[in-house]
Amino acid sequence: MTNPNMKMKEKQPLKLISARDPRVLTMIAPFSDDMLALEGYKDREELSKDMFDFMIKSGGIGLTANQVGLPFNVFIAGGHPKIERGLRITAFNPKIISTSKEEIMIKEGCLSFPFLFLNIKRPRKCVLQYEDEYGKKKESHCDGMFARIVQHEMDHTLGRTFTEYASKLKLDMATKKALKHIKILAKQRQT
Ligand SMILES: [Zn+2]
Repeated sequence: MTNPNMKMKEKQPLKLISARDPRVLTMIAPFSDDMLALEGYKDREELSKDMFDFMIKSGGIGLTANQVGLPFNVFIAGGHPKIERGLRITAFNPKIISTSKEEIMIKEGCLSFPFLFLNIKRPRKCVLQYEDEYGKKKESHCDGMFARIVQHEMDHTLGRTFTEYASKLKLDMATKKALKHIKILAKQRQT
């Protein structure tokens, strides 16, 4: 039986929403399969494929659904040939169940903050529990760059962004740099 009051939307092409949008800054509710139809998706696989296509086209190595305005508790990570030989995961209802004591500094960027790069210290390893694009329960032991992507995207599902980890001074400096870069690009496009 279908709910006659359930609003079915046609699938929209993915596009990044503002980093200040409340959807980016709010924790995402748990995912269930019946939510997919509300945004015009037929299954998890279709959503995963669309997200990967969009992310790779945008030059990303991780993307969470709320960054493109979708209400699903899911992120994708990987797909870069130099990181874990191109490993890709689609993590529905993700949960980090443990992290290593050892922390490392890695420079992070984010599709929601064009050209903003911040050196951030986080645990080197983490263990992630999630459901994959087939609904199967999985556990991934992540290390290095892949663990970093997973922790960054996990934060997005909680409504947090990487800018929270930088001091105001560092953030101001990195923002200035990003704006400069954007200005230069805009000029290049005009000529
Ligand atoms: Zn991000």
